[in-house]
Amino acid sequence: MRRVTAVAPEVRGVLSVVVPCFNEEQVLEAFNRELHVRLLELGIPYEVVYVDDGSTDSTLSLLRRFASCDHHIRYLSLSRNFGKEASMLAGLRESTGDQVVLMDADLQHPPAFMGRMLELQREGYDQVVARRSRDHDGRIRTLFSRGYYRLVNHWAEVELVDGAGDFRLLSRRAVDALLDLEERNRFSKGLFSWIGFTTAFFDYADTPRSGGSSKWSYRKLLNYAVDGLVSFNSRPLRLAIHIGLLLSCLAFLYAAWTIGAVLIGGITAPGYVTLLVAITGFGGMQMVLLGLIGEYVGRVYNESKQRPHYLVRERTPSDVARPPTLRARSS
Ligand code: UDP
Ligand code: MG
Repeated sequence: MRRVTAVAPEVRGVLSVVVPCFNEEQVLEAFNRELHVRLLELGIPYEVVYVDDGSTDSTLSLLRRFASCDHHIRYLSLSRNFGKEASMLAGLRESTGDQVVLMDADLQHPPAFMGRMLELQREGYDQVVARRSRDHDGRIRTLFSRGYYRLVNHWAEVELVDGAGDFRLLSRRAVDALLDLEERNRFSKGLFSWIGFTTAFFDYADTPRSGGSSKWSYRKLLNYAVDGLVSFNSRPLRLAIHIGLLLSCLAFLYAAWTIGAVLIGGITAPGYVTLLVAITGFGGMQMVLLGLIGEYVGRVYNESKQRPHYLVRERTPSDVARPPTLRARSS
């Protein structure tokens, strides 16, 4: 944890809470109630920005109802499911607060911690990050995660902290810095770290989802892991060159050894196994490295298309009448 000496002026202004939601009908009402209670306890001006990420259940109708009952609540509904990264970005763009808390809708990010976040923010931090324990993760998943973080932190330019996810408070300047990063392939964990600013961490015990189901499959997790590795540097490409050189050297040595053996002892065994292993092994390696290069090319392709990150199909009715400059602080 980094400590700063300069104490920021007494906070604060408005607090925005940004909540991405995808098919969360089972938990949304309980979440909204809990959030409301905690925000009232804080006793500061606030707004809640819900982003419906193309849900196919009744999430959107719940959001409409929340917004019609409480003028602190606004919502956006995206035209389809664009993924959590896009819905967080949409929420951040829409937020107008002097500090913004990002929070999941499934109560795995307990709203009760907002008070702690604000306390730390008052000490002068631009990012206050809630770091979760791994109590509810399986052993194998924990093992993979630990290894993965070690790998990324060794390779990437940015430092990722195990357990530190999207549950965090950001100052307005940190939010503006994030919004200035226009890249299409967004890997938020890395972006949060990339923008820097003073960051405080505090730990909390992981809680299971209070309803509904996680949107993460193992395949999605693997893709996310690859994102983390290739989003912040081109070192894996350098690794491809190193592996290629190493294998060429090994092949050369093996060839020399075989020729030597033939000269000394004549042709003995046909060597089918060696050949097969070499062909399949090298073939596999080449596919992986090609895929790696493809990842980077795909990213360049995506960025070059300059498509918007998401499209909005509906927003809080009272917002529609307002001029765009008042609707969103920066977009
Ligand atoms: N989410 C989203 N779009 C998606 C997937 C998830 O907005 O495509 C939201 C989801 O509604 C939740 C948060 O992102 O509020 C975290 O999702 P989830 O709980 O599935 O992730 P986990 O906690 O398992 O990492
Ligand atoms: Mg969750």
